[in-house]
Amino acid sequence: RTPPFYAVIGQPIAHSRSPQIHQAFAAQFGMRLRYEACAAPLDGFAATLQTLRAQGLRGCNVTLPFKGEALGLAEQMSDAARLAGAANTLGWDEQGRLWADNTDGAGLLRDLRRHLDLQGRRVLMLGAGGAVAGCLAPLMQAGVASIHLSNRSAEKVAPLIQRHAALPCPLHSLAWGSGEGAGFDLVINGTSAGLSGAGLTLPTGLLAPGAWAVDLVYGPAAQPFLQAAQAQGARTLDGLGMLVEQAALAFERWHGLQPQTPPVLDALRRSLE
Ligand code: NDP
Repeated sequence: RTPPFYAVIGQPIAHSRSPQIHQAFAAQFGMRLRYEACAAPLDGFAATLQTLRAQGLRGCNVTLPFKGEALGLAEQMSDAARLAGAANTLGWDEQGRLWADNTDGAGLLRDLRRHLDLQGRRVLMLGAGGAVAGCLAPLMQAGVASIHLSNRSAEKVAPLIQRHAALPCPLHSLAWGSGEGAGFDLVINGTSAGLSGAGLTLPTGLLAPGAWAVDLVYGPAAQPFLQAAQAQGARTLDGLGMLVEQAALAFERWHGLQPQTPPVLDALRRSLE
């Protein structure tokens, strides 16, 4: 029997760790799996999805820059995907209808909860792109005291606040570069500034003593932000745990099986060293 066919679609995609992660999950269940990293042309996501479907694709992860387009193609979507305005996980139900989910936010929460108690935390999120949009609703529902949103391009913040207005957590905007002395308990960097080597300057006292700083990016690109936060006394976490947890939630949606994530995260971290 041919193994079931899954994929991750993005542009660029060669660097993706998703095939390695999904194969490690499959191995836990003795399952044979075909999981491929597939590049789609920037104007050809829908066509690529159709071609892969004709080849037997059962579901896929979606990454930059196609998460919004992926949601638009779906006939059914989870609340998480709707609030995010983006999908990172697609699949077809038994009637062949395309469904969309977004496991980024739930994945971040699972990883955060391994390290800290979110209850009553004052949170600052930097960025207003797809990753932040995906994490906002789950964080707002996690018992935090409040969330401030700050983005270089200020005009992207208000629509995000509006879309989440019905959720029971105070959500405020904060001017980019401000927050001196604010003493946040948790600061999440959801920008891609580190990837371009731009780095971020943190205002003095942005983090409370003993606060947590989390970068959604992993590897060297996370270091400028995490080191700046450490200099303010923060404990730090990069985005590798989130990457593994969002993959585990997608795996569960497709296969109905809950993989163990810690050994996969450990192996992945070692392979990146
Ligand atoms: P988007 O392109 O949608 O958004 C990028 C964000 O970064 C925008 O808010 C943008 O601000 C900001 N930004 C970019 N460069 C700079 C800079 N030099 N200074 C300040 N702000 C900057 O990307 P995503 O939201 O999809 O992804 C963000 C990051 O999160 C990516 O690096 C991605 O790798 C990571 N990620 C990690 C995941 C994980 O599982 N660990 C899952 C998903 C994403 P502006 O609006 O002003 O342009």
